[in-house]
Amino acid sequence: MTSLQIYVICCLSFSAFLFVILFGQIPAFHHGPIGWLNRLLLVHIPHLFSVLDQNLFRGILTRVFRRVHNYLWNERNPLVIVFYLTLLVAGAYAFFHNGQEITSQWGFFTWTYILICLSLPCISLFLASTSNPGRITEQNWVQAFRKYPFDNCIFFPQTCSTCKFVRPARSKHCRLCGYCVSRFDHHCIWINNCVGEKNARYFLFFLFSTCQGLVQGCFITGKYVYVRRNRDIALIPSLWNSIRLHRAMGCMFLMSFLISPIVIAFLAFELWLIYTGMTTNESQKWQDIKHLVEDRKLYREVVNGKQRLYLLEDAPPNAELLTSMSQVDNIYDKGFKQNLYSVLTGN
Ligand SMILES: [Zn+2]
Ligand SMILES: [Zn+2]
Repeated sequence: MTSLQIYVICCLSFSAFLFVILFGQIPAFHHGPIGWLNRLLLVHIPHLFSVLDQNLFRGILTRVFRRVHNYLWNERNPLVIVFYLTLLVAGAYAFFHNGQEITSQWGFFTWTYILICLSLPCISLFLASTSNPGRITEQNWVQAFRKYPFDNCIFFPQTCSTCKFVRPARSKHCRLCGYCVSRFDHHCIWINNCVGEKNARYFLFFLFSTCQGLVQGCFITGKYVYVRRNRDIALIPSLWNSIRLHRAMGCMFLMSFLISPIVIAFLAFELWLIYTGMTTNESQKWQDIKHLVEDRKLYREVVNGKQRLYLLEDAPPNAELLTSMSQVDNIYDKGFKQNLYSVLTGN
């Protein structure tokens, strides 16, 4: 097996692994093979490893692994940002170093355009990672509390045990950041920060700029290897030969080609959430509601125009049994335009 084949297999495996780890817990995949693989990798294999380690090494490896795991996933750390920037800088260096045949034909406007495209992911990453995601403090609690009503469906009045106040609807306490975040979406390791009401726009900008960078990189390097292929043989073998002959550009093409779908899927998921008036956190709650409705365990009562949901055992006599999700209102969904406006303005 050649080093290029090993590289391709590594890229493919890494992309698939990343996809399963990042997307396996979202509701759309949770009950399918991707969700199953996610649980295998994150729950069952670590459990087996722990049992073996207890018997063979008295749990030393588990303690070391847990410490590393905690640092990587449960503590704020800049490792993923460093990894992202290293990929970006290394990719740009490899391109400009090996692609002089292409860059020598660029004029002033193309250079300006490419430099803007390259700088956008860095600017958006800086904004997303350093901005306040919507921290709820004693000073702004009243304002945050009044902003969204409790829907008595996925949000009920509850006191945050750390912040010692009633958590406003749509907010959640982030244990990594140590505070409650208004319109909490998720804590993102790529930006080492929470995504919330005030910085969701920068996160969207970050996803969009990364997508455009990858797609353009894929297109430019793909075109490079495509025009240098052997036209006498079939497309795939000739492309493969061209990738082997122009290794740096070929590797960059493969990398951007394999990573692009993951980032595009992320962007599409964020846009879908905006379209449906949900955050990532809320999409998981809605998924739980959906399962209860499917199991015929949820009842709904409307009092003064406001809905309230009950489990079977708590339902009052006049509550109606829910048989479809269309019977449940998402009061936070104001329509795509208004939802998008809220995200883009941070309000
Ligand atoms: Zn809190
Ligand atoms: Zn956080």
